[in-house]
Amino acid sequence: MAGFTYHNQDLYCDGVRLMDIAGEVGTPFYVYSEDTLRANYAAYQEGFAELDPLICYAYKANSNLSICRLLREMGGGADVLSGGELFRAIKAGVPSKKIVFNGNGKTKAELESALEADILMFNVDSKDELVFIDELAKEKGVRARIALRVNPDIDPGTHPYIATGLSESKFGVHILQAGEVYHLASELSHIDVIGIHTHIGSQITEAAPFVEALKKLTGLVLKLREMGINIGYINSGGGLGISYQEEDAPPTPAEMAKAFRPLVAETGCRLILEPGRSIVGNAGALIAEVLYIKETPRKNFLVVDAGMNDFIRPALYGGYHRIIPGIIRESNVVMFDIVGPICESGDYLGKERRLARPHQGDLMAVLDAGAYAYSMASNYNARPLLPEVLVKGEEYHLIRRRQTYQEMIAQEEGGE
Ligand SMILES: *Cc1c(COP(=O)(O)O)cnc(C)c1O
Repeated sequence: MAGFTYHNQDLYCDGVRLMDIAGEVGTPFYVYSEDTLRANYAAYQEGFAELDPLICYAYKANSNLSICRLLREMGGGADVLSGGELFRAIKAGVPSKKIVFNGNGKTKAELESALEADILMFNVDSKDELVFIDELAKEKGVRARIALRVNPDIDPGTHPYIATGLSESKFGVHILQAGEVYHLASELSHIDVIGIHTHIGSQITEAAPFVEALKKLTGLVLKLREMGINIGYINSGGGLGISYQEEDAPPTPAEMAKAFRPLVAETGCRLILEPGRSIVGNAGALIAEVLYIKETPRKNFLVVDAGMNDFIRPALYGGYHRIIPGIIRESNVVMFDIVGPICESGDYLGKERRLARPHQGDLMAVLDAGAYAYSMASNYNARPLLPEVLVKGEEYHLIRRRQTYQEMIAQEEGGE
């Protein structure tokens, strides 16, 4: 059984008891189930098999090299949005023809390194960026393959911070201006127009907004053909949600594929997908230790050793994550706020959770912490970055060791 389950009283990740990992690497730490990662990627491969898409895993969800390498070995490409993520993709061995470059603020240095790497395409976010890429390609004597990121003006019904396809969003070229920008692209000397792209948001739990966006894109592809602009790739971005709570029931990749198939077929284009959260989200957990149990007249707090610097989703988005104990106790059930050690009142992992009163030193697992978790961690409060552990069956290994205090100050004057 893959994922996080109890055997007797103890919580396991796949075949490994979390207490055993904690005993070796210390707490807090992140842990990932390789079986779950593989199953999530395979669900895309199998669900979309008929369309044979290029699956470009979205690096910003979790760019640990071992995870990137594992997905590359399964055939995955990379969706990168910075020079650093491009560097990681190349390090992970992703072939350049499977790399797409996203983002609304690509710098000159980032664009140049992507041109040198000869990536599959740039998902261009604005007219200015398009003209700039043409100039840089000309200087280098190369051609740049591009898609336009189109803003289809769709409300995906998700948190406003992660809705990206509304007309007021900063991302992409508005669909009403796309024809004009494509026309310009087709006239630039060092640009090859090969695709169309959109990404309407993240943690979307229904198929309808994706289908609506894809319809707008396919309509545009057909219109562009009439203008003599032939698009070979249609990229519907990422954004498929996961079940953080029981009531979230996102469609499966197979269900998405069924809805996409007729639309993509109509264009004859190759489909590109950019899933992030739905690949790594439920494969990971953050494991913390209970430091103190504090009962006050108003509230009960469980103070754990992981905080908002390790895991910011609750503080940043009000993100809900299930929190379960590392060991099942028969004690009274009490309502707790689970909080970290950071000096901020926004530093919490979960609020008003009913839990059997744990003991000091027990582990707590914050579930569904594979995506936008480690990748958003910081050194706030001068806390070192956590280790990451990958579990494979009954074995596990450290895929990133804990940062040391010395490493934390090494780039600073006087910190060598
Ligand atoms: C963040 C992002 C993704 C991945 O989104 P998920 O919700 O993690 O699937 C894909 N494409 C683009 C352009 C993104 O910005």
